[in-house]
Amino acid sequence: MIFMNKKDSASISIMKIIGVSLIFILIFGVSVMATEIDIRSVEITMSNGYKMTVVTSKTKISEILEDNNIVIEEDERVSPDLNSEIGEKSEIIISNKSEQEVQIAKISESGIETTLDEILKSYTPIIEKIVVEQETIPYETITKDASEGVTDTKNKVIQQGEDGIKEITYKIKYQNDEEIEKTKLSEEIIKEPVDRIVQIQKNVVTSRGSVSRENTTGTTKIFKITAYCPCSKCCGKYASGYTSSGTKATAGRTVAASSQFAFGTKLLINGKEYTVEDRGGAITGNKIDIYMNTHAEALAWGVRYLPVQVVN
Ligand SMILES: [Zn+2]
Repeated sequence: MIFMNKKDSASISIMKIIGVSLIFILIFGVSVMATEIDIRSVEITMSNGYKMTVVTSKTKISEILEDNNIVIEEDERVSPDLNSEIGEKSEIIISNKSEQEVQIAKISESGIETTLDEILKSYTPIIEKIVVEQETIPYETITKDASEGVTDTKNKVIQQGEDGIKEITYKIKYQNDEEIEKTKLSEEIIKEPVDRIVQIQKNVVTSRGSVSRENTTGTTKIFKITAYCPCSKCCGKYASGYTSSGTKATAGRTVAASSQFAFGTKLLINGKEYTVEDRGGAITGNKIDIYMNTHAEALAWGVRYLPVQVVN
């Protein structure tokens, strides 16, 4: 076993004091050095939003930037001012008031590693233009089926189609004469398109027979001819002396016929010319009723089957 004497313990104590003092001196010395050189970290915010922290011994803004190879362009502004001293906050903000700000942001967003110099070199003015372009609106073709299920059909254009026109307003951004962005601002229809209408029709060989009335001028056909007068037996409660077409019923002129004859049609019956002016509930198909002044005359006529010729 080894026992320490008192002298030894005393010398250890002195050593301790010296040691602690040395540490103090060391700490003090460093802090004195630090105060003299005044190194500080400064946060610099670039105009594209990129932040960097630099360690500098400089205090003037322009010198801090110069120290870090940061070049300020003409249209950039620095806060605090280039000629002022760095403040308590230890931060410098570079801001940009032009379109170039957008461009830098784009480059930094693209993910391509670029140096600040490259970013600065890429500054080229962006030109913005409002451009109005005309576009055609193609017409549509509408098909209407009027064939009524017939297989033999033909297509007939009943309305020609016309293209419409619309004007579209774009905002286009150019850089180095190249279109870099196109934004649609508005759209206006100048002319509405006109639909092309095609009708599917029955393929009729002779249009005359199918379309017009069966009895046309010059044709002669046998009709069942009766006679009537304005009495209630002949005309019921509608007996007024006036025809369905509004004329005053006149013997020797007025006849009632079915709607196959338009009002005003002249018919030659038994060598005499009559005018279709009236209609009657019983007068259908190939029947004609001749107007007469008295019921006796009508009865005397009876029922006759005679050829009827259409005059006009
Ligand atoms: Zn009568």
